[in-house]
Amino acid sequence: MMMESVSGGNSLPSGSDGVKRKISYFYDPEVGNYYYGQGHPMKPHRIRMTHALLAHYGLLQHMQVVKPTAAKDRDLCKFHADDYVAFLRGITPETQQDQIRQLKRFNVGEDCPVFDGLYSFCQTYAGGSVGGALKLNHGICDIAINWSGGLHHAKKCEASGFCYVNDIVLAILELLKIHERVLYVDIDIHHGDGVEEAFYTTDRVMTVSFHKFGDYFPGTGDVRDIGYGKGKYYSLNVPLDDGIDDESYHSLFKPLMGKVMEVFRPGAVVLQCGADSLSGDRLGCFNLSIKGHAECVKYMRSFNVPLLLLGGGGYTIRNVARCWCYETGVALGIELDDKMPQHEYYEYFGPDYALHVAPSNMENKNSRPLLDDIRAKLLENLSRLQHAPSVPFQERPPNTELQERDEDEEDDRDERWDRDFDMDVDSNSLARRVKSEYAEAEHKDVESYHNHLDSRRDIATPFKEIACSKVTGVRGGFNGCGWPIHQRRAGELNR
Ligand SMILES: [Zn+2]
Repeated sequence: MMMESVSGGNSLPSGSDGVKRKISYFYDPEVGNYYYGQGHPMKPHRIRMTHALLAHYGLLQHMQVVKPTAAKDRDLCKFHADDYVAFLRGITPETQQDQIRQLKRFNVGEDCPVFDGLYSFCQTYAGGSVGGALKLNHGICDIAINWSGGLHHAKKCEASGFCYVNDIVLAILELLKIHERVLYVDIDIHHGDGVEEAFYTTDRVMTVSFHKFGDYFPGTGDVRDIGYGKGKYYSLNVPLDDGIDDESYHSLFKPLMGKVMEVFRPGAVVLQCGADSLSGDRLGCFNLSIKGHAECVKYMRSFNVPLLLLGGGGYTIRNVARCWCYETGVALGIELDDKMPQHEYYEYFGPDYALHVAPSNMENKNSRPLLDDIRAKLLENLSRLQHAPSVPFQERPPNTELQERDEDEEDDRDERWDRDFDMDVDSNSLARRVKSEYAEAEHKDVESYHNHLDSRRDIATPFKEIACSKVTGVRGGFNGCGWPIHQRRAGELNR
């Protein structure tokens, strides 16, 4: 293993600025034991493989390794509906045949099967992401990592695309307690629909998703979907086609994210690092190398803003482990040897036993003029955001908004935070502001948005802390455009 600075990116790479990032890495040794079922492409075992690689590359000793605290019901209910959470807690493979209506209602059963320990799996991966957000809020680390998180498709009261609870939304809600603005970036090959939907009408969270668009799960993420009401221009969608390579990808990623950082100026960044955008993914159709994928991490890291790195999709599991191991090295500022160390899953990585794999020679269907057009459109949207007179970029809400504290608002975790950091005034007024903003959103934006989209299904009612709206366009599943179709197309059934 070589130690050297990670270069590239926007501003201060570690090494030359003399500041190594402090990393908190969340891992539960049980997570690899959860099993979606035979033939299912989502394999939590890939998290354990990643961890084994990190251990044998000697990276664990450079990080604070944290076993996540399981998220409690009430934590999950900060975004999800109470009855949905109760259903997830109660359902078992043995009892599921008695609950056909509930299964259908919550979209559980096919893409999102019931398996042993489902609820504790959800508690574990959500606990890691929320725990990461807490560590960042407390200033304990600069970068928090939870490779078991990033399940971006889950909705308020519906499972979707292998995702049951949306750990990302929960983590962002935690970050919003002290950050005025939070940026969400999604490099999974699938559209980050659950996160976009949750924050579609707010200007406090900007969501940016780079994804395959057109006859592909979940079907949403059109370049024209830009947010609504106060959230107009705060959702960015980058629709891409098959075979995109590193160079094409970064001809969009860097100028767009550079501009987003400049005009939105987030207090924290959440990066979903879904590895199904890698070349050779079992369900994906992009052609990114691991270095190309990791370049996104390197670039977002370079802004020196508190960063939460999450997993996501990724179905050729040997490459997922390679990718997230390499990206952990990038977070640390440690460049890893291509030659892999011996470890318990070594045989997965033959015949080369190397960290990196060459991208394929598949056709890149993203033409230069098309990419230029998408970039120009999105930069144009961002420039509107920049010049919108209604965007006050103050770091703290004005003190005049401080109002009497509602004792019921805060849970004990918040109280702990307040005690430790002695910032009751700011945090409470901010909490108040969150509520008043979303109360406003509920009454104006959401209502008019709902009227505007009256013919479509599943208009979410605003959830407890923050307004949630927007419709789900296309539903996954065996009859939708979920994984079984891609699996069939790729001829990979039973592999
Ligand atoms: Zn995905």
